[in-house]
Amino acid sequence: MSIMNGKKGLIMGVANERSIAWGIAKALSENGAQLAFSYQNEDFKKRLIPLMNTIKSVNYYECDVSKPSGELNSIENMFEKLTKVWDEIDFVVHALAYSDKEELKGKYVNCSRENFLNSLDISAFSFTRIAKSSLPLMSLKGGSLLTLSYLGAERTTPNYNVMGVAKSALEASIKYLAMDLGKNNIRVNALSAGPVKTLAGAAISGARHVFRYSEDVAPLKFNPQLNEVGNAALYLTSELSSGVTGNVHHVDGGLHSVAIPKQEDLE
Ligand code: NAD
Repeated sequence: MSIMNGKKGLIMGVANERSIAWGIAKALSENGAQLAFSYQNEDFKKRLIPLMNTIKSVNYYECDVSKPSGELNSIENMFEKLTKVWDEIDFVVHALAYSDKEELKGKYVNCSRENFLNSLDISAFSFTRIAKSSLPLMSLKGGSLLTLSYLGAERTTPNYNVMGVAKSALEASIKYLAMDLGKNNIRVNALSAGPVKTLAGAAISGARHVFRYSEDVAPLKFNPQLNEVGNAALYLTSELSSGVTGNVHHVDGGLHSVAIPKQEDLE
């Protein structure tokens, strides 16, 4: 029997076949999970549907997480629609983030107030709204909420700037949500992935340098593949991790454990 047989969940953040959300969707689907998807707008829908067809999934919702509660296609509106189709879910994967590309270069000190608020709203606060909306659907059996983070939340990485601040807020949210929802048997965790070549990853200035550096310096000497992030998500969304919550799990070839790289790795 596959480990996710009988499990149902929502995947948010598939932009294309290179998206981390898609790597996770494939791993969960291959292991028996039934999936629903959300997409940001019509442009993303066109790319999502053919991918969904490959795993025979038919349940999808438009959701722009920047829309306030009460508006069509807001987080809360999507969950209202989802509740009409499924009366319970086992997991939600939140694999989305946004910041103005113009501020993912240069100095963080120049960050605008508008982009600061927008980046934190979309990339961090959306996860808290999702947790609140998931609660009624997870009230009977509990469940797993999973988000995606990056090392730039813990230490500086070039040009990550306000996104690093947003990921720090996201990682702190995980702990508070884990505490709030633990009594409902809802677990809340993050995967901190090493650099993956995606649309969002390419928006960060100098991404190529970070990609190469991480590959050279990480103990495993490679950046994670989508299936490796997917397999870690399988662990965190399944009963295999029933004792794990409030945790940031690194899938980065061990990069986070290195303080000063060996000189030979930099040559
Ligand atoms: P991606 O471009 O494939 O996916 C980003 C997704 O965010 C897209 O589907 C986009 O539609 C969605 N999104 C942005 N604004 C939105 C909004 N207002 N409403 C709804 N959806 C919105 O990139 P990815 O790298 O797969 O990103 C997924 C997650 O992984 C992000 O949280 C990212 O920060 C994180 N992450 C990425 C890397 C990397 O190197 N690529 C590393 C660690 C963590």
